[in-house]
Amino acid sequence: MSAGDAMVVVGGGQCGARAVQVLREGGWEGAITLIADEAAQPYERPPLSKAVLLGERTPEQGAIHREAFYREQRVDLRSDCAASTIDCAAQTVTLANGETLPYHRLLIATGAEPRRMSVPGADLAGVHVLRNAGDALAIAGELGPGRRIAVIGAGFIGLEVAASARQRGCEVVVFEAAPRALMRAVPAEVAQRLVDLHRERGVDVRFDVQVRRFEGEGHVNGIVLGDGAVVPCDAVVVGVGVAPRVGLAQEAGLAIDNGIAVDPMLCTGDPHIYAAGDVCSFVHPLYGRRIRLECWRNAEDQARLAALNMLGHDEAYSAVPWFWSDQYDMTIQIAGLPAFGSTKAVRATGSASKVFFAFDEAGLLVGASGVGQTGEIARDVRVAQELIARRMRIEPERLADSATKLKSLLAAAVQ
Ligand SMILES: Cc1cc2nc3c(=O)[nH]c(=O)nc-3n(C[C@H](O)[C@H](O)[C@H](O)COP(=O)(O)OP(=O)(O)OC[C@H]3O[C@@H](n4cnc5c(N)ncnc54)[C@H](O)[C@@H]3O)c2cc1C
Repeated sequence: MSAGDAMVVVGGGQCGARAVQVLREGGWEGAITLIADEAAQPYERPPLSKAVLLGERTPEQGAIHREAFYREQRVDLRSDCAASTIDCAAQTVTLANGETLPYHRLLIATGAEPRRMSVPGADLAGVHVLRNAGDALAIAGELGPGRRIAVIGAGFIGLEVAASARQRGCEVVVFEAAPRALMRAVPAEVAQRLVDLHRERGVDVRFDVQVRRFEGEGHVNGIVLGDGAVVPCDAVVVGVGVAPRVGLAQEAGLAIDNGIAVDPMLCTGDPHIYAAGDVCSFVHPLYGRRIRLECWRNAEDQARLAALNMLGHDEAYSAVPWFWSDQYDMTIQIAGLPAFGSTKAVRATGSASKVFFAFDEAGLLVGASGVGQTGEIARDVRVAQELIARRMRIEPERLADSATKLKSLLAAAVQ
């Protein structure tokens, strides 16, 4: 294989698996190799904390492509095989098995890895993180009626795990170091709504709590808190955020800035190397600052754009972020980045559903967070995404007025 006809994608997650598809659909006739360090065929991660923990589906049922896809599309999927170095000058990737692959263009889509806790006992059996299928199956095996599950971190992963564990009949306690849940992701009102829901369902959610250490002989059986209190438990799930997997890129000399730093075309400082998904940071044109997103929609969108640009297109990334989370029978959908503004309007969209609109200091709509039933929030959040994309200047009162159809506001776009 010569560098001239080979596309190589490192990372067989959401982004990598979608990128190889778009490379082929986009007309690339030469070789495509997908290097994936997991043994299973690429799969969707969102079900891991929901349906997989609930025992309703297996990780394999979330496969991104049919098994025959890779053969039919002539994608050389190297499963259970890590890329260990990139030689930018030679345009080659070396694999853990010593094999060296040349590339014409390379996409790094290595995602992110869960942060671990550095307190004593963090390596005891029964202390879990959740990122891959193996993690989910291990946690699912801990769940059952009466089992005491401690969740560290009231972020999306922690709260989804808490919801699933509670639905499986566990006694669940959530410890959060911050004064409230989802500190950086959603307005306080949305976070409170979720916490109320968890408490109604019997989850013990505690804030401003430090974990001093985990206790147990070989297997965790308790958590010692900052005030010395000991909380017994049968298993722990640590959900304290993720860090982009930048090691490969960093060693290759690519610029790192809270992720692999890419330009609007998702290209790194090396014109032959692109990065996309959870691992990359980019300057978002709407927000004018460098951000990194950790969500499914972004991995999908960036996979498509990076693949097209690897094929010679020259398109800048500008999609408005969109994220969802399911907990119990409630859905949260977020368009834009509410954390870059403050809530100025609340719109009732159903009996118990609301959308919160965040504006920045200049009066521009920067984010919308819907919480409630999917059918009652999805449409308005979708329209909000469009309003954000158009940099709309809208009076908050109009958004709050449920008699005003949001779609009608689109007509009044101000650039
Ligand atoms: C439990 C869970 C639930 C989630 N729920 C939601 C949700 O409800 N809504 C939402 O919007 N988002 C959700 N997400 C986030 C979403 O799944 C991620 O944003 C998305 O998977 C990112 O895709 P990615 O391809 O960038 O990274 P990943 O999917 O993490 O894929 C990266 C892949 O690269 C592999 N890799 C790393 N280094 C190497 C190497 N050197 N060589 C070869 N392979 C390597 C990794 O093992 C991994 O398979 C969830 C994530 C998790 C973990």
